[in-house]
Amino acid sequence: MTPIFVLSGAGLSAASGVPTFRDANGLWEGHAVEDVATPEAWFRDRELVRRFYDQRRLRCADVSPNAGHLALAELQRTLGPERVALVTQNIDGLLQAAGAPDVVEMHGSLWRLRCEVDEEHPRVSTAGAQGRSARCGCGALLRPAVVWFGEMPEHLERIYRMLRRCRTFVSVGTSGVVYPAAGMVFEAKKAGARCIEVNPKPVGGAFDEVSAEGSETALPRLVESWLQAYR
Ligand SMILES: [Zn+2]
Repeated sequence: MTPIFVLSGAGLSAASGVPTFRDANGLWEGHAVEDVATPEAWFRDRELVRRFYDQRRLRCADVSPNAGHLALAELQRTLGPERVALVTQNIDGLLQAAGAPDVVEMHGSLWRLRCEVDEEHPRVSTAGAQGRSARCGCGALLRPAVVWFGEMPEHLERIYRMLRRCRTFVSVGTSGVVYPAAGMVFEAKKAGARCIEVNPKPVGGAFDEVSAEGSETALPRLVESWLQAYR
């Protein structure tokens, strides 16, 4: 049983000041972000893609978890990972930095590298700038272990298993337009869960309850009520 399932997106980290890496025109160094975050971009120009992720990693190293991350981490520590699923689209590692013991990173992590030819090969931790010649044990080059445009999100089987058993589904700071994350609320509803959205610009729709505010203020309050209900 996984009574509480929390899906988080960029809005959870907004109050921490995680930069978006888009200028006023939506570009990074003249490139559409979508064009430096694809497997095609990697095989076309590895140096460019490494630089993009190096910048993100270096900037994220100065960023701290906010009250929203801390509340979710406390919730999972108190009730246990078998009763609280924390699934995130974020690659910044801030839920772990807040002390959450079991975070499912569906879009991978800035803090790991993986083999460029076989994603099953062991992942390697990284900090700062990626070594230019870092290689997998098989001899292939390592790439950022993040899920790029056109790639499948990770851990989907586990995610859907937890989703089908949840009683409360919470969507935090996600736009609700990108699948498969956007469809999770419907899966949770089918399972009979109460669906709550936390978002300053809510999507509404399938949600039973909407908290139209930042997660750094909404989550500490919601977590307190869940701790009382489930303890
Ligand atoms: Zn390999």
